[in-house]
Amino acid sequence: MTKLRLAIVGAGPAGIYAADILLKAERKFDVSIDLFEQLPAPYGLVRYGVAPDHPRIKGIITALRDVLDRGDIRLFGNVRFGEDITLEDLKKHYNAVIFATGAIRDTALDIPGVDAVASYGAADYVSWFDGHPDVPREWPLDAESVGVLGNGNVALDVARMLAKHAEDLLVTEVPENVYEGLKASRVTDVHVFGRRGPAQVKFTPLELRELGELRDVDMVVYDEDFDYDEASKDAVASNKQVMVIDRVLQSWRKRDSVNNAGGTASRRLHLHFWARPVEVRKDEDGRVAALVYERTQPDGQGGAIGTGELREVPMQALYRAIGYFGSPLPGVPFDKKHGVIPNREGQVLAKDSNQRVPGIYATGWIKRGPVGLIGHTKSDAMETVRHIINDQGSWWQPEDPSEDSIPALLEERGVKWTDLEGWHRLDEHEIALGAPQERARVKVVPREEMVRVSRGERTLGS
Ligand code: NAP
Repeated sequence: MTKLRLAIVGAGPAGIYAADILLKAERKFDVSIDLFEQLPAPYGLVRYGVAPDHPRIKGIITALRDVLDRGDIRLFGNVRFGEDITLEDLKKHYNAVIFATGAIRDTALDIPGVDAVASYGAADYVSWFDGHPDVPREWPLDAESVGVLGNGNVALDVARMLAKHAEDLLVTEVPENVYEGLKASRVTDVHVFGRRGPAQVKFTPLELRELGELRDVDMVVYDEDFDYDEASKDAVASNKQVMVIDRVLQSWRKRDSVNNAGGTASRRLHLHFWARPVEVRKDEDGRVAALVYERTQPDGQGGAIGTGELREVPMQALYRAIGYFGSPLPGVPFDKKHGVIPNREGQVLAKDSNQRVPGIYATGWIKRGPVGLIGHTKSDAMETVRHIINDQGSWWQPEDPSEDSIPALLEERGVKWTDLEGWHRLDEHEIALGAPQERARVKVVPREEMVRVSRGERTLGS
């Protein structure tokens, strides 16, 4: 029987769903799948993008683990595509490759002063609080007033993880260095800015409501933002999600604490709508001193237009949460404007010609852009997998499709890769670290330590 040797690059939800769907699909050939991951641990965004105080979403890991634990997918962690293994290698050893590398960088914001000291991309802060091995261990949280740009769920994650008291994270898997960093935070006011109105936000009701439940944090909303135009009124009346969001916000308007009118909490989380960022003002040391924004107004169709009125909010740090962006992969076509691999339903296309590039596929955020919840990645994977099955005639014909060739190649290159058994070891180690404090786990953060534990090598001091 014909066999498909498939490489998948990226062991986040997109890559694991694609592997699972292909293995379960009706097809006339055998399949063997190798999953490559640049980090020593799998699960991508679920481990390194979902906030530690969202255990329900982190729970998706259980379903992903079930897929890996079935044992029919080989995992090669700590292997960087483009360095440890290249597209040429994949062509030599596989019939096809799916890129499921996600989108982990921040979309750029082109306004004056955005390069100020303490002007951060949300993705970096998220990586820090989620214990990503490749960001510095320390995060400066010395600002009292902080701004967050954007009205999506990432903006709310960032705002919550800035406003929340560190002690309230101790029940979670928050890494030790993150807990210590947050404990030292001097924040009193977090200001979130949306360029459109309350009826046009991208965040979801559950995530908004959660802000109102933070201990010792007052929600502050401003009456002037709720003067709805017809399009906003229609959205509130016709869209259940918008209706719930409006209800939550209206309930905060009624609280004593709103509009700065006498809240008692030590921290405040302000939601500003109709605020388009215009400039980051710097102090004489080049640090963030204020955000200048233009007050906007509805354009009648759900969009916003400027009013010309400029306002300034003093702050000492600013986080941009205006969307993620994909990164180019060596040798693989890339659409620089949208931050995705150009593709038609997951079949990768040459950059300028729209011609298919045989053998190369994409799925997840690197395929469709950084929108949608984790579950949406499944239908995406189904589409890509259907094409791989139908494209049998155009698969690559590898020189050496043997399964042994990959460990041999990595060995020869001195790559310290980790496998599924190694992941189990690290997983158990993290769970054991959390046990004395009755926490689900405490994450190991340094890459070398993750690799050492996974490979069963002695840890420092042991
Ligand atoms: P998003 O939902 O697309 O939100 C991006 C926000 O940035 C929007 O409010 C957008 O405003 C704003 N924006 C974009 N460009 C801007 C600019 N130049 N100036 C000012 N504002 C700008 O993206 P995201 O928050 O990164 O989330 C990505 C995906 O992950 C979403 O599907 C999200 O739901 C999901 N996610 C889910 C969770 C969760 O379930 N808890 C957590 C995190 C992320 P406009 O709408 O006006 O363009």
